[in-house]
Amino acid sequence: MRPYVDEDLCITCGMCEAECPADPNVFEMEDVAVVANPDACIECEACVEVCPTDAIELK
Ligand code: SF4
Ligand code: SF4
Repeated sequence: MRPYVDEDLCITCGMCEAECPADPNVFEMEDVAVVANPDACIECEACVEVCPTDAIELK
């Protein structure tokens, strides 16, 4: 699995990037959160839990 960000819901708060424990970080902040390194995801679901707008789905 890897995260997908709904760009219509993302408010670019940066919480997903701040909480992601993966190395390299799965996320990069641009106009919205971008899944820059999907292969690094360890499927911990921290991003899903922290996102205030439920913009992230793991699949
Ligand atoms: S599930 Fe965990 S490792 Fe994967 S992107 Fe979200 S916070 Fe990072
Ligand atoms: S936590 Fe959610 S709203 Fe915040 S930057 Fe990440 S995807 Fe966007």
